[in-house]
Amino acid sequence: MVSKTFLMVKPDGVQRQIIGDIISRFERKGLQLVGAKLMRVTTELAEEHYKEHKGKPFYENLIQFITSGPVFAMVWQGENVVDITRKLIGKTNPKDAEPGTIRGDYCLYVSKNIIHGSDSEESAVREISLFFNEDEILEYNKDIDVWIYKS
Ligand code: GDP
Ligand code: MG
Repeated sequence: MVSKTFLMVKPDGVQRQIIGDIISRFERKGLQLVGAKLMRVTTELAEEHYKEHKGKPFYENLIQFITSGPVFAMVWQGENVVDITRKLIGKTNPKDAEPGTIRGDYCLYVSKNIIHGSDSEESAVREISLFFNEDEILEYNKDIDVWIYKS
């Protein structure tokens, strides 16, 4: 099923200037970028986004980190996009993330793991609506899709 997901290059990824590399990985898989912006996450937005982790030992640090500099927020669309992007991102802790995944290739610590990706269809819908207005998400056709999608 074609659906959308929310992906975000965290402040460490923006500072390390790997936004382009990360976008390339999703583009070459055949996924479609339908929304994107460089932005700062307010403490209020960070707390809402990460509310499932409130009370955990790493929560305060996580909120501090995600608000510490600009992030690059994106909406991607495609077949099974939530599962596929989670696979391309790799395990939460970079020490367990396989080589070839983004976290496996670019980082060392769980507290600086470069990228966020929604973990389910429900969180994707919730997170997209937290970060994007409807008019910031575009619908457009790509002729190349006849070579990517089955008929
Ligand atoms: P994700 O969906 O793979 O990003 O992982 P989670 O939803 O479980 O956690 C959200 C974010 O919190 C992770 O991406 C990490 O940046 C951070 N985090 C998760 N677990 C830990 C932990 O045990 N220690 C620290 N320092 N940070 C963590
Ligand atoms: Mg998560």
